[in-house]
Amino acid sequence: MISILRQKPVFRFAPSPNGRLHLGHALSAFLNDDTAKAADGRLLLRIEDIDLARCTPEFEAGIYADLNWLGIEWEEPVRRQQEHFPEYQAALHSLIERGLVYPSFLTRTEVKKRVAAYERLGESWPRDPDGTPHYPPDDRDRREEERDAMLASGLKHAWRLDMNKALDLVGEPLFWTETGDERRGEILAEPDVWGDVVLSRSDAPSSYHLSVVIDDALQGITQVVRGLDLFHATSVHRLLQHLLNLPQPIYHHHRLVVDADGRKLSKSEGDTGLAELRAKGLSAADIRRLVGL
Ligand code: GLU
Repeated sequence: MISILRQKPVFRFAPSPNGRLHLGHALSAFLNDDTAKAADGRLLLRIEDIDLARCTPEFEAGIYADLNWLGIEWEEPVRRQQEHFPEYQAALHSLIERGLVYPSFLTRTEVKKRVAAYERLGESWPRDPDGTPHYPPDDRDRREEERDAMLASGLKHAWRLDMNKALDLVGEPLFWTETGDERRGEILAEPDVWGDVVLSRSDAPSSYHLSVVIDDALQGITQVVRGLDLFHATSVHRLLQHLLNLPQPIYHHHRLVVDADGRKLSKSEGDTGLAELRAKGLSAADIRRLVGL
């Protein structure tokens, strides 16, 4: 008899403990859980807590409490990003060695000022899909000796991907497979719309983009189910997967839960917080209905 060995699909829910979960997270968690169950797959939980200033143990405890209440079950152990900084740093160093990443010294305020001055002259400055101005070329074009001296002087810095250099190296269009609510099929990645993205922050030894692709690979994630707000970020993830030789999951970007004014929910809005709704006596079934499932 020939036995067909099929790898189970692996899903993950990856909240950040920098606030309480709201209805948008509930939709994402339910969709991950439902799809994993329907596909006889596995569901992993990842705590994306690289933002050391904003993530707290209380918010993390809240995530477990909210997910338990919703009836979502995940496999242990939970992966907590703060416990894996050396892995992200190793990947960053491999990119530094290949000359694909450079230290950037301008603060956000300095960039803003620069852009405002430029735009006062009637010129337009490129912005990323989140509306953030692209990083100016100063640090990218710096001579090596100057760069080394700045680093040696202990100046605060982030590490950024040299997008043009990375794209030249790839030399071919990259695509990802999408099964989501808005677009489906093979989607052309357009990482250049992000400019020189941060791969390691000045206040943390990684960034969302770098950690997420490494974790998805190390956790063997085959299916990424997450909100449409991260659709465009997938272009960066696809590029990093290519540069770091990581496998690519299938992506499903789902609709967002919006407030009465049609805006995406944010963590500060109490009336859509899961803990508040639980305290009001709602059940997990009520939450399912509220998010349209
Ligand atoms: N940690 C991200 C968030 O809470 C989700 C990242 C992802 O699913 O790729 O929005």
